[in-house]
Amino acid sequence: MTMEKILPKKSFAPWVKKLAGFEVYAPVEKDGVWIYEAVEDLKEISPSYPNTVQAPKKIIFPQTETLFEFDTDEEGQPTLTETLPGKKDRVIFGVRPCDARAATLTDIVFGGTINDPYYQARREKTVLVGLTCNHPPSPNCFCPSVGGSPHSREGLDILMTDLGDRYVVDAVTEKGEKLLSKAKNLFTKPTDRDRRELATAFTDSEQRIERSLRDANQLPGKLKKMFESPFWDEKALGCIRCGICTYLCPACHCFDLTDELTSASPPKGRRIRTWDTCQFPDFTMHSSGHNPRPDRASRLRQRLNHKFQYFVEHHGEFQCTGCGRCISRCPVSIDIIDILEEVHDHES
Ligand code: SF4
Ligand code: SF4
Repeated sequence: MTMEKILPKKSFAPWVKKLAGFEVYAPVEKDGVWIYEAVEDLKEISPSYPNTVQAPKKIIFPQTETLFEFDTDEEGQPTLTETLPGKKDRVIFGVRPCDARAATLTDIVFGGTINDPYYQARREKTVLVGLTCNHPPSPNCFCPSVGGSPHSREGLDILMTDLGDRYVVDAVTEKGEKLLSKAKNLFTKPTDRDRRELATAFTDSEQRIERSLRDANQLPGKLKKMFESPFWDEKALGCIRCGICTYLCPACHCFDLTDELTSASPPKGRRIRTWDTCQFPDFTMHSSGHNPRPDRASRLRQRLNHKFQYFVEHHGEFQCTGCGRCISRCPVSIDIIDILEEVHDHES
């Protein structure tokens, strides 16, 4: 289902004002960087912004969350109290198509054979409103190489495209359609001129992307053959194990569980889920002291193999949507596009 409408830019704020009952999130500039935040003042929402440092993933899958609280009564009997997220409706504006595609990948992880009620509760109550990347928000964008596009609708409820004085607003899902129905009178039908300009905007947006992966479909097989190669030692030499690449990745989803005591006697506290990263040495540390990924090489290999081999083998998708954040933000300039280019030429 898609339903295209035209929204004059001056009607954007009146539309958002009609969304009473929704928490509104959007990219906002704070201390010189762009991040997704809950916005009260609509003037904070900007139609043009570079790539946000973090993806909107953190709104659906928070960096830290309490899963349940525990207590112990006088007889020593424990009680557990589940702390599921509230039922508040949310709308996130300005979602980049790569980040929306990444949400479809985390949906596989948290909604496959084991349903994660915390993730699902937030996901179901969240409407994703995307914005076509007329200009790539990062010089390291490469979404078309991994099955996406700067105007992909995948994972979005609405895709908006900026045509200068107006937006084309395309409701992709029923959730998106409902959001448009809150202010029907503000939207009009697209004209032939609108459709022509939209088609040009889409073509131009694709042509402006400068980076790409060569033959991405060959990567799973190539990576499998070079598992034991010393190539990984060389490529990982500079890694300082900061984990930025994975913390900022919209598709990474690994987490750790810890119990925090607020009282030791009687035992009382909470279980917390926190993002974790395969780039930390103790991520795979066993209680015996053995670590199957003891060095930087095995951890870098894991990051790339997970995204470009294992996930493809299990789910038929790359676990990367080409947002470019891990490249732009790595403090030692480890560049997965360059590494994967060399993978093609590697003699196993
Ligand atoms: S961001 Fe760069 S230095 Fe930091 S863990 Fe990732 S690859 Fe290593
Ligand atoms: S692996 Fe890098 S480029 Fe791919 S989605 Fe994650 S952060 Fe973006």
